Amino acid sequence: MTSTYPYWVAGRAATGEATVEVRSPYDGSIAGTTTEPTAAHVEQAVAAADAARAEFAATPAHVRAGALDHVSRRLAERSEEIAALITAESGKPLKWSRTEVARAVSTFRWGAEEARRWSGTLQRLDTDPAATGRLALVRRAPRGPVLGIAPFNFPLNLVAHKVAPAIAVGAPIVVKPAPATPLVALLLGELLAETDLPAGSWSVLPVPNPVAAELVADPRLPVVSFTGSVPVGWAIRDTVPRKHVTLELGGNAAVVVGPDQGDDESLAWAASRIATFAMYQAGQSCISVQRVYAHRDVSAALADRVVAAVRALTTGDPTDERTDVGPLIDEAAARRVETWVDAAVRDGARVLTGGGRDGADYAPTVLADVPATAQVLCDEVFGPVVVLETVDSLDEAFDRVNDSRFGLQAGVFTRDLQVAFRAAQVLEVGGVVIGDVPSYRADQMPYGGVKDSGTGREGVRSAMEDLTEERVLVLTGL
Ligand code: NAD
Repeated sequence: MTSTYPYWVAGRAATGEATVEVRSPYDGSIAGTTTEPTAAHVEQAVAAADAARAEFAATPAHVRAGALDHVSRRLAERSEEIAALITAESGKPLKWSRTEVARAVSTFRWGAEEARRWSGTLQRLDTDPAATGRLALVRRAPRGPVLGIAPFNFPLNLVAHKVAPAIAVGAPIVVKPAPATPLVALLLGELLAETDLPAGSWSVLPVPNPVAAELVADPRLPVVSFTGSVPVGWAIRDTVPRKHVTLELGGNAAVVVGPDQGDDESLAWAASRIATFAMYQAGQSCISVQRVYAHRDVSAALADRVVAAVRALTTGDPTDERTDVGPLIDEAAARRVETWVDAAVRDGARVLTGGGRDGADYAPTVLADVPATAQVLCDEVFGPVVVLETVDSLDEAFDRVNDSRFGLQAGVFTRDLQVAFRAAQVLEVGGVVIGDVPSYRADQMPYGGVKDSGTGREGVRSAMEDLTEERVLVLTGL
């Protein structure tokens, strides 16, 4: 039997008229159904967020932290059911869905911990003779109700990264999940509804994109926190220049493998991490490994091992516990990847393994000798494709990493501390990961991009800062 999920308007379950079926990209089976929010419900949610701003900002920290702890606990209790739902609606292999649920458990727990710590600072002003007897109390106040827009590829944890910081600072939030994967966000609503949060403080509306665009323009939602693709993100920012807009967008993340990585253990580690994180979620992560720049001393041996590790991945049914790589989100996405790979091959690229599409499945693919202008190298492939390149020096590698319009994260395999510091200094990205792939993200660390990859930072604490601004209380006569 398929489940029907209500949407959430000001903390209450609601149902619209038009039924929406959500189907698995793997076999077309129905993951569940929901309904399209009515215009009246959308208006009610926004009006309630606007009306709740003062009440929510004044809600005691123990209530907000308690609610976040509750959601974290309930996610853990229902983790198997939730992981199965993520797999059903997105085609994400079950083992990766489980990882996502575990991450969301900790994202909400971090939110609770930060909500308890969230405070302010005292600043003395009497260093200036004219300010003798004065003191400032500096606190951060919510900028206002938030519109949180999420993509399909982490349908729970990226919604958690919108919701948990908003609750932690007392900012009302209206969440808009991705059309392909609304169900797990709607299930999250069930857990939020079990808390004591003010009703107007949260809504989850699976609205179509034109309605989402109206929400972007609505002045009652002065903060837009967007995670998704580059063109949509920057277009949103251009339409509302007066709003506070955070953009967590795409990338074509790169790995550098240094000349000191030629021993067996180092090669095995680097190859296994590259293969796994180029292909996990069928490459549909903003920090999937897409480009590898290996030093000439190690590149041939590394290529052999990466190819072997990719061939060893199990592809197929995402509900099977053993599956490493499942389908892309839909057949159109797989066709796009096919077109890009075929174009690179026509222009001289070599397929070391993979290539080939079957419906929404694209075979995990390793490419070499890719022309410098190929889309698989320059754009965000967002599919199970990795490009191997050979460089003569680390400086060349760093230049090639930077020769991109994106800049989310980069990974550098090295044992040399000086190389690590140099990488952190010269690489134009939001984060550098030493000893691992760029796909590593801890949910409490600052996370975000430079260049086309976005503006602003998430990670629970950073997002709390992003959703708020400093407000000063000056005390006189002390
Ligand atoms: P997308 O841009 O197509 O959609 C993202 C969200 O925006 C969806 O909810 C969509 O319905 C909504 N949307 C689309 N048009 C809109 C409009 N005009 N107004 C308001 N909302 C609109 O992206 P996607 O395909 O769902 O996700 C994949 C992209 O997300 C990739 O580029 C990936 O790199 C990026 N991403 C970035 C991060 C990050 O943290 N930097 C994380 C995950 C995914």
